[in-house]
Amino acid sequence: MPLQLGASIGENGRQLNLPLLPTGSPMDRPAPTAAASPEGKYARELREVLAKYWGYDSFRPLQAEAMACVTQHRDSLVILPTGGGKSLCYQAPALAMPGVAVVVSPLISLMKDQVDALRANGASAAFINSSLSHDERREVTAKVRSGEIKLLYAAPERIVRPNTLEFLRSVEVSLVAIDEAHCVSSWGHDFRPEYTALGQLKRALPGVGVHAYTATAADQVRQDIIRGLALESPELLIGSFDRPNLVFRVRRAAQKLDQIREVISRHKGESGIVYCISRNEVESVASELKSAGVRAAPYHAGMSDIARSRNQEGFLSDRIEVIVATVAFGMGIDKPNVRFVIHAGMPKSLEAYVQESGRAGRDGLEAECLLLYKGSDPVLWRRMIEEGETAALEGALRSLEEMMRFTTSLKCRHRAIVEYFGQEFDRDNCGACDVCLAELSFADDSLINAQKILSCVARLEQRFGASHTAKVLAGSKDQNVTKFNHTRLSTYGILKHERGTTIRDWIEQLVGQGHLMKAGEYGVLQITPTGREVLRGELVPQLLAPAKSAGSSKAKPEENWEGVDRGLFEHLRTLRSELAAEKAVPAYIVFGDNALREMSRRRPTSEETFARIRGVGAAKLRDYGEVFLKSINEYCSMMGLATDLGESE
Ligand code: ADP
Ligand code: ZN
Repeated sequence: MPLQLGASIGENGRQLNLPLLPTGSPMDRPAPTAAASPEGKYARELREVLAKYWGYDSFRPLQAEAMACVTQHRDSLVILPTGGGKSLCYQAPALAMPGVAVVVSPLISLMKDQVDALRANGASAAFINSSLSHDERREVTAKVRSGEIKLLYAAPERIVRPNTLEFLRSVEVSLVAIDEAHCVSSWGHDFRPEYTALGQLKRALPGVGVHAYTATAADQVRQDIIRGLALESPELLIGSFDRPNLVFRVRRAAQKLDQIREVISRHKGESGIVYCISRNEVESVASELKSAGVRAAPYHAGMSDIARSRNQEGFLSDRIEVIVATVAFGMGIDKPNVRFVIHAGMPKSLEAYVQESGRAGRDGLEAECLLLYKGSDPVLWRRMIEEGETAALEGALRSLEEMMRFTTSLKCRHRAIVEYFGQEFDRDNCGACDVCLAELSFADDSLINAQKILSCVARLEQRFGASHTAKVLAGSKDQNVTKFNHTRLSTYGILKHERGTTIRDWIEQLVGQGHLMKAGEYGVLQITPTGREVLRGELVPQLLAPAKSAGSSKAKPEENWEGVDRGLFEHLRTLRSELAAEKAVPAYIVFGDNALREMSRRRPTSEETFARIRGVGAAKLRDYGEVFLKSINEYCSMMGLATDLGESE
């Protein structure tokens, strides 16, 4: 399913008097005419640029519209999920239009990756930052002046320096692109004070369009971007937040390490991220994986800068397969071929979960996301939240509750995420989550067990929280249980044959399914109207069977391997690693997994057929055509494989 057009513009967006896209549900609206061919005189150039530099033959959803804003110098705010193809929205116009494009990016590593990737495609790009010497900087500015450099990347604090602005006023600037634009908002999780100075750009460079790009969908962030960057009547383009190529699974942690290893073993030789809540856990998981023979490395804020960047670079270059990290790891990781993201603990919000799990499958190929949670995870977060962000405490706790509901509800995970972002989800079965794939097994006697729990809540007069309720049900001799005389309740011990953690899970599942709710500061359990229906036997809730150890999921997600010769793919992957190592660039800069799969599917043996592979532009053909063709030819004749097969999709 492709991303859909969508414009879920909140109330606050309306107050800003933005030019709105037509209203209505995303599906019943005709696509703007720009979708077919971006209006304006650059339509043809844009397509040529796409083919020449990237070897792509079509636009992703909203890319054409976003590019039209750029070529027409209309300010824009483009919100597309990770992997949606935001960078092309300004890179392609930058190459099609006269002048130099200025791209603001928050991290040196991000700039470097983008510039490397552009150069590998034959585009002339450069960055200016503190890592350059005086002479190098002079050279860059000279090349900008001469029109040689088409994209100039810089950090926000450098762009707004008076001499930089003066320089930019003296050359032709085609556009200003603000990458990771949510950094301007103090509301979001990546606030960077330097971004707040970028509002000056509109004034300093009159007539130049300013374009903001982000994957963060929150309404507040959107407003902060528009205000912070002083965008003038910006066009708002918002993509669908569904990521159909990601398979989501949520499991209770039980022998976590085995669960993690099971996923890793299904992705031999592929890249993945394991997120842990604490640094200690990062260290222990990383070392256990290493001793199990996995090429894993840790990453967290407690490590030295050198060790951290060494591990990050190892991961980018595929030397390290699995990075085990706290949330400190993430922004600036543009690696497109991350095939799995495992959360070894519950994230603190659904927003964070979507960001982190969204680092899988940026290249649009299938990838899997496994979330392992424990009843104690929220307690851990609660403590960390209460110690830290006191100002935003209430919101943080609400986000945590929302996350809990996501893990314990039995709603399609794709639907839950898309609806959380205020968009509609139009399919009954996503075919890509544990719920829709019917991988969950349910407990026998769900109704009876749920009724036991609900009546215990009633006996406790809806005045106690989940853990106390679970203790009563389990027949615990806990001090508080005896102190309140709850051993005398008729529901005391009625679930004593179940494990305490199972009872706790079931309570959370009843909350997640809306039959119980947690009220007030202490999360006192209360029975909802549907909970009463359950008590009366009119509604049957679904309780999950107690977690078993390991062996979480059977199948790999649906794959885009059709017709791909795996042997050839591995062969080309090795070649790619060697070439990347020679040039000291990440492997994906040579070719993405997409391109390798298509090569292994169509097996081109001539320059002409090789050039038709998506992802092979003019520069890649020149630089790698010969060596890849040789390798494909050799392998195919050795194995007796048919070559030069037609277009497969
Ligand atoms: P984002 O910044 O939105 O996360 P990127 O710009 O990094 O996404 O793009 C994600 C991947 O999709 C990249 O590998 C990019 O080359 C690829 N891509 C972008 N646009 C297209 C397109 N029109 N056709 C094919 N692949 C594309
Ligand atoms: Zn689903």
